Amino acid sequence: MSNTGNHSENSEQEIFQLFNCLDLNQDGQINKWDLVNALEDTGLWRTDPRVKDIYDKARIRPGVSSEIDFQGFKQVASNHMSVIKKVLKGDLIIPDFVSFTHEIEKIYAATKTNSDGKVADYIPQLKRVHPDKYAISVCTIDGQQFSLGDTKDHFSIQSIMKPINYSLALDEFGEEKVHQHVGREPSGHSFNEITLDYKGRPHNPLINAGAIMTSSLVKPSLDPAERFDYVLNKWSDLSGGMTPRFNNAVYLSEKQTADRNFALAYFMREKGSFPENVNLEETLDFYFQCCSIEVTSEAMAIAAATLAASGLNPLTGKRVLTQDTVKNCLSVMFSCGMYDFSGEFAFTVGLPAKSGVGGGLMLVIPGLMGICVWAPPLDKNGNSVKGIDFSQRLVNRFNFHIYDSLVDIESKKIDPKKRKNFSKVEGAMTLCWAAAQGDLNEVIHLVSSGVDINQADYDGRTPLHLAAAEGQAHIVDYLISKRVILNPRDRWNNTPIDDAKRGNHTEVLKLLDNTRGKDSDKIN
Ligand code: GLU
Repeated sequence: MSNTGNHSENSEQEIFQLFNCLDLNQDGQINKWDLVNALEDTGLWRTDPRVKDIYDKARIRPGVSSEIDFQGFKQVASNHMSVIKKVLKGDLIIPDFVSFTHEIEKIYAATKTNSDGKVADYIPQLKRVHPDKYAISVCTIDGQQFSLGDTKDHFSIQSIMKPINYSLALDEFGEEKVHQHVGREPSGHSFNEITLDYKGRPHNPLINAGAIMTSSLVKPSLDPAERFDYVLNKWSDLSGGMTPRFNNAVYLSEKQTADRNFALAYFMREKGSFPENVNLEETLDFYFQCCSIEVTSEAMAIAAATLAASGLNPLTGKRVLTQDTVKNCLSVMFSCGMYDFSGEFAFTVGLPAKSGVGGGLMLVIPGLMGICVWAPPLDKNGNSVKGIDFSQRLVNRFNFHIYDSLVDIESKKIDPKKRKNFSKVEGAMTLCWAAAQGDLNEVIHLVSSGVDINQADYDGRTPLHLAAAEGQAHIVDYLISKRVILNPRDRWNNTPIDDAKRGNHTEVLKLLDNTRGKDSDKIN
């Protein structure tokens, strides 16, 4: 049989290679714990709809051995090959998730003691929130999650509704129409200033006037209840199915203390800023309702990750917002998301973000992850003190600032994506080198960390070619035990057997010949 085989044989071989990644003792048995631990270590949670089934199947039952053989592994893995492959081969966007989370823990601990700032007190419901509450949640674009602190508490999203309502307006009406009614310029004034730009529009969608305006452009054709349900459902979709709450007391208080927002709305109506037929009272009510939505930090991190993944939810795979919308939304968040600290934040942290007076901060690292920090005490700009502190420390530790790639910071900052490249390219090269040197420990280490034993270098030379050419019989023996492909051809059309013959390595030849004789029908 040829090396190519058919599709099912290939995937059988693939599953076997994954099985081998876990079969460290090489006894044909793996422990279900090792699979569960691999999933947990990479940050794929039991609640993740993509892997829930694997966790269920790999559950350890009392009185039943946790060891499974290849057939048992196949039953657990065969429907989830792509995710298990990513996990075991280190192909998730942050391959070494454990080290990454240790760094986040350190930053959390260092910022936890920062007791500056004051909890918002313009309404009693916010004033009552305990100032020591602190949560950090992370979700990558591959759905790797990590959370610390009060991550199950629901908090008031307040202004963090603004980028979402802007996005919903964009998705429905498009950039041109939306920006006839709202600008995209940092205002240079405080977030609730009664001022419009020279075209009579609010300066941007992330100040109060702009958010009231974009709210008027979210499903205006629906009746108020349907409209609010639509937004709640969008928050649920953004956060992978987690259910947002509505805090009616916050809503009533917001409404009662909203003279400035009423003033802004009437001012804009006087200037003819709104689209036609807007009902002002309904729009304001809708705006207050959206500010009174509550989510957990875990949910908001997933929503931020959806933005980081250009509108595709990492856990459900569902497209929630269009790519163009997300691009526009992140651009505005980058320049206007942090009240009067927006320029400073863009300069020092260099990431799109939005904060709210409930103490929430949504941080987006495009193409990598979303983060939510929730810590109620605010600074004089209305931003979470710990949120700012955390963000600054984060970009000091990691190369996340949008322009870090332009600077030679390799020695100073961590690139958590890095080992991904290592496992694919450098990993394969290192394996070839270790095979040629006869370094069995290194070979075992590389194979068990997911490096492909059949991966060839630029000349089509595989680890087996190199081990055979150098007469490294113990490596050849090990590779055979891992069901390596026996007859790969390099670019000169040579197989490992040709190499062994040329070097007169009789022991290697014997191993290859014997195995070929036995296994040729099965594997090659
Ligand atoms: N509900 C607040 C307002 O409209 C939003 C405050 C905020 O988070 O900036 O005044």
